[in-house]
Amino acid sequence: MRKKIVAGNWKMNKTYEEALSLVSEIDNMLQDEGRGDVTVIVTPPFPYLQSVGKLAQGNGNLLLAAQNVSEHESGAYTGEVSAAMLKSVGVEYVLVGHSERRQYHHEDAQTLYKKMKAALAQGIKPIFCCGEPLEERDADRHFEYVGQQLKDSVSYLSNEEFDQIVIAYEPIWAIGTGRTASSQQAQEMHAYIREQLSRMFDAEAAFNCTILYGGSANPGNAKELFSQADVDGGLIGGASLKSRDFTDIIKSF
Ligand code: PEP
Repeated sequence: MRKKIVAGNWKMNKTYEEALSLVSEIDNMLQDEGRGDVTVIVTPPFPYLQSVGKLAQGNGNLLLAAQNVSEHESGAYTGEVSAAMLKSVGVEYVLVGHSERRQYHHEDAQTLYKKMKAALAQGIKPIFCCGEPLEERDADRHFEYVGQQLKDSVSYLSNEEFDQIVIAYEPIWAIGTGRTASSQQAQEMHAYIREQLSRMFDAEAAFNCTILYGGSANPGNAKELFSQADVDGGLIGGASLKSRDFTDIIKSF
């Protein structure tokens, strides 16, 4: 059985105090209403990683992710954070290829591949994000677009490395827009991604790969999305900033 995951991407939100309150609330709610079969991940901004991680520590199903990692091991890269640094403060997952980093920080396919390698070398699992812009969907080129993103970065991983990664399908037109992909649109793309992965690696590895949906998921639409055969959970932006909404999404499985 593949792992079910709900990951909250806090992006550049929350003060230190607010971040600690949020993770404490999530932790308390999970203790009372949690689902033992769902891995829950929180992705706070860098300065809060260690403190948030400490508060999450007692809860075996609440894990820590970073929003970014350097492709370099160490050295003169001002402002960057290495995989070894993340590992040393308890990070277990890292987002790679989020559309905001591709767009605003011009991260290309080769860089994303290197970031995944750097994370994997430290035992950190990449959550590789892919997804098409609206023009590609409107032109009916969304499958090719996402297939190419996988080919350009993920296909170069070894079989052993691939076993460690999570994929997040996030159509750009649905991120932060309040416009969600329909469950049918999500399912057909997730099935397509799994099919592509089975060609790059093998069918069993592709079957076991967790594929998350991201893009304006909320407590009202999560149940329908998560009920799809190839949707193994969600990468949640806005709705992960409210403990009640985030916990309700987790309970939607
Ligand atoms: C995201 O940025 O990963 C995301 C899914 O955001 P939102 O849920 O706010 O659309």
